[in-house]
Amino acid sequence: MEKRILTPPFFIHIADVIFFTGTQTNISAALTDCRNLNFRNRFIELGPEFYQAKTPDPVTDPYLVDFSASAAQLIDMAPEDGRDKGFLDHFSGNSPLEGAQPLAMAYSGHQFGSYNPRLGDGRGLLLGEIQNKKEEMWDIHLKGAGPTRFARGFDGRATLQSSIREHLGSEALNGLGIPTTRSLAVIGIRELIYREKPALAAILVRLADTHIRFGSFEFFHYTGQSKNVQRLLEFCIQNYYPDIVQETDRYRIFFQRTLQRTAKLIAKWQAVGFIHGVMNTDNMTITGTTFDYGPYGFMDRFVPHHTPNHSDTHGRYAYSQQSEIGFWNLNKLAEALVPLMGTENLQEEVQQYQPLFNRFYREEMGKKLGLAILDSEFTQLVQRMFQLLQDYQLDYTNFFRFLADYPGTPQPANNPQNSGGDELGSWLKQYLELARREGISHEERKLQMDCVNPKYILRNHLIQSALDKALKESDFSEVKRLRILLENPFQERPKIFEEYEIDSEYYAQDTPETFLGQQTSCSA
Ligand code: AMP
Ligand code: MG
Repeated sequence: MEKRILTPPFFIHIADVIFFTGTQTNISAALTDCRNLNFRNRFIELGPEFYQAKTPDPVTDPYLVDFSASAAQLIDMAPEDGRDKGFLDHFSGNSPLEGAQPLAMAYSGHQFGSYNPRLGDGRGLLLGEIQNKKEEMWDIHLKGAGPTRFARGFDGRATLQSSIREHLGSEALNGLGIPTTRSLAVIGIRELIYREKPALAAILVRLADTHIRFGSFEFFHYTGQSKNVQRLLEFCIQNYYPDIVQETDRYRIFFQRTLQRTAKLIAKWQAVGFIHGVMNTDNMTITGTTFDYGPYGFMDRFVPHHTPNHSDTHGRYAYSQQSEIGFWNLNKLAEALVPLMGTENLQEEVQQYQPLFNRFYREEMGKKLGLAILDSEFTQLVQRMFQLLQDYQLDYTNFFRFLADYPGTPQPANNPQNSGGDELGSWLKQYLELARREGISHEERKLQMDCVNPKYILRNHLIQSALDKALKESDFSEVKRLRILLENPFQERPKIFEEYEIDSEYYAQDTPETFLGQQTSCSA
């Protein structure tokens, strides 16, 4: 087993890189694009208390694992740019990108409920912020670019496995319409690193609207640097909410927006069955985007106390806990802002969380069920539904696709009527009664529901087969196939499915028994 990992699949991929870069046109086009990236680097202006300036460590023969053309568009790069050796050199850190000013950010945070004063980018580097042609700003960050002064003795690298997991996770959440960081590419590097066993290393090229976390504020607060808490706050307002720069209560509005976005994000996670797995305050961005994918997972059969994180023995970050943890984390952010805003103001604001979350979540569930009348009967229907899902261990994702078809002919692969018993029958009756109140046809309801309930999600067995191929055979085709499939998880796309050899029904099936409830270790 270990021998297979140690027998590097490298050489096959050197061949690929050579093949991809074989034409002169390709090389010059991509190099021009890399050089044309319009770096702005606002964060560096905050000064050295906020980061360590450091260039990425060089790597040997970087090779491309996967490149997301849809993420590339965000920084005005073309799909073919990923195949270029110039891209690999620039984004693995081997050649500097003109205009980039790489730095490792300082932050701390609460991990599993306890404060950890020593965090920071131990292996990540913010290359800078890029302004695209639409004048949107995107952080470019390399995860796994070598140890920084925050590395605490760790190697500064990321495993190929965790990089592929983050790549697929973030592109999948984007496909679901959930705010998230993006993954431009995974670049493999010729280096063996050691986790529980030897592992291949890689660099993830991450794009994000921000890398500022709740923990960034906590760092300055707990080190008594109140001036820097304020400078960071002003920085966030100026760069992310310029519309409120002139407001006298801009700090309060900033907090309100962070709270709202966090509540909305978690409502969306709950609705789609996404479990982040490590909701530490250093993994929560101030713009409410899904951030730092580790041992995340999607709900298979409905088990509310499920956590995909193997280390989370008490289920702190389980599915059923996420909304409450969001609240807890916002309280930690609030504590860091007390000296600037006062306890009373912040208390008033944090109290808005629960009603806001409930409102967002209710709206999300209404859309999932194709219902717009969200009254007490709706509430009762939803409560009964969750009881049913739990009692009969139904597949969370496929249940909603079944409902959209109901009362038409259910797809045999995902027909919960085989296992849901009489109670499901009685629930379906109530559901149809509420659906009738809406005054829309079944066809219309199905259309609406199929736009919000995915047919395809990133199930454990699907990730596992992509990882097995990648790690054992150096075959990245399944990573690509999953990324393509999940960029639009709501629809079958026959032409694209044919091109990428995607078997529509295979990817939509319930998770096989052996993969149910699977957990991943933080270090994997
Ligand atoms: P994460 O679990 O990725 O959110 O990381 C938690 C903290 O550990 C952050 O400060 C990371 O920068 C740091 N860290 C994780 N893995 C490594 C590594 N291999 N080398 C250096 N720092 C790391
Ligand atoms: Mg983190």
